[in-house]
Amino acid sequence: MNLLLLGPPGAGKGTQAQHLMACYDIPQLSTGEMLRAAVAEGSDLGKQAKVIMEAGNLVPDDLMINLISDRIGQDDCANGFILDGFPRTTAQAAALDTMLGERNLSLDKVISITVDEEALVERIIGRFSCADCGAGYHDEFQKPRTEGECDKCGGGNFTRREDDNRETVKSRLKTYHEQTAPILPHYEADGRLIEVDGMAEISVVTDNILMLLEDGRGD
Ligand code: ADP
Ligand code: ADP
Ligand code: ZN
Repeated sequence: MNLLLLGPPGAGKGTQAQHLMACYDIPQLSTGEMLRAAVAEGSDLGKQAKVIMEAGNLVPDDLMINLISDRIGQDDCANGFILDGFPRTTAQAAALDTMLGERNLSLDKVISITVDEEALVERIIGRFSCADCGAGYHDEFQKPRTEGECDKCGGGNFTRREDDNRETVKSRLKTYHEQTAPILPHYEADGRLIEVDGMAEISVVTDNILMLLEDGRGD
């Protein structure tokens, strides 16, 4: 199963990817995570990406296309993958079609998660994650079951993203509307797009996605 999660920053793509990964036993390919790892490593890519990400802009298409093309070719993607954060421009969407075509692959479904603009800001400002295992949390909407302790790994080190601040959020949302939203019609046209109300509770969103995916399988 090859899936693509689309939606503005804070819509819940990463959160839902975690559940889909477990359900279908396929990896989440998050370009944001890959870039943050490159920044932490201090690689050439990381050095280039750092300032761009801090400003809420997009890393150049050619770099992103190479990154994801290499990733899709790795062994753990043999049974499928969940794209999260790529494509983000029409050029990336076209490149994705080409790289999948070359491998005789295609996207089974494109899941678009919609959320009100004010809720997005609130979600991003309250977002944090476990520094040890990456599990995602929110100050209000998804607190750890025991305060200060990760539900998944029991660790107590949490981290917040540099770009999850009010200033950068504004430019990230603007970037989304200008450069990423225009790719939606590309997927709408051929019936692969399924739209999910991301304003619902996390578990309800998951149930709705799974229901829509299973529906599609019965065709
Ligand atoms: P994205 O990957 O689309 O940027 P995330 O999955 O990281 O978004 O979610 C952003 C924040 O909102 C996280 O802190 C997450 O816990 C929270 N969140 C995700 N889905 C929901 C939801 N349906 N309702 C409330 N909060 C949510
Ligand atoms: P969010 O889901 O909250 O928007 P991500 O973790 O997906 O955040 O991305 C963080 C940042 O990484 C983006 O603001 C952008 O600067 C960069 N980035 C991630 N994916 C891409 C991509 N496909 N093309 C260009 N830049 C990207
Ligand atoms: Zn953890």
